[in-house]
Amino acid sequence: MLTNYHTHTAFCDGRDTAEEMVLAAIDKGFKSLGFSGHMTAEFDKSYCMTDLPAYINEIKRLKEKYKKEIEIYLGIEEDTYALCDRSQFEYIIGSCHEVKFQNNFYALDSNYEGLLKALALFDNNAIKLAEEYYKVFCNYILSRKPDIVGHFDLITKFEEKEKSIFFNNKEYNALAERYLKQALKSDCIFEINTGAISRGYRTTPYPAESLLYVMKQNDAKIILSSDCHDKRMLDCNFTETRELLKDIGFKHTYILLNNEFVKEEI
Ligand SMILES: [Zn+2]
Ligand SMILES: [Zn+2]
Repeated sequence: MLTNYHTHTAFCDGRDTAEEMVLAAIDKGFKSLGFSGHMTAEFDKSYCMTDLPAYINEIKRLKEKYKKEIEIYLGIEEDTYALCDRSQFEYIIGSCHEVKFQNNFYALDSNYEGLLKALALFDNNAIKLAEEYYKVFCNYILSRKPDIVGHFDLITKFEEKEKSIFFNNKEYNALAERYLKQALKSDCIFEINTGAISRGYRTTPYPAESLLYVMKQNDAKIILSSDCHDKRMLDCNFTETRELLKDIGFKHTYILLNNEFVKEEI
């Protein structure tokens, strides 16, 4: 069944309006579609929503208007450093996009130069940077328990296109695995996110394959999402990623249907 709950629009850093996204989803035969605009982050307005009430009203309007054709859900992608009022949304995705250093925020996924800038703050030591990222993210996941954990190893976004900082470092892989195991104790649903594939940064989804095996061994709940910023990419790489998940041994993903997260066979 085609579904996606990680969807961005022109309310934040997406390309299309919410209604264009809905129409594209209906066109592709989607059964349900959830919106997850970036929660307003005071420290960086470049990518997030600045008019939250307008977003909420518009998604509610679309939910009603298209209810015969598709299930629409009002979600949000909050950040470890920009929390939402959870009661306003039907689900939340919890993500971490930056590190905080001496009261300043440094984006890890905007561009490679930004990542290097953050790395420099941690003595150009990939392990120190990764430790800070995963420690903060993991604490957030365990305390906040978001419905969905977004792109767990986002920090590895540029590993394929640029000089590898993390994957070629054994210590990093052990560290990511250790934090993942901790985070899985939250019992949250973890995203298998194809967003970086659609934007040409990676050929494989988040999290990295080695972490997918850890997730399988620990009976993780997973959900497939395209982290969509462009209506043409709503189901980007879904077929290939399902095959990958099956090869690793996953039998089910979760979907949001009739207002409930339920298991669906892959
Ligand atoms: Zn994100
Ligand atoms: Zn996103």
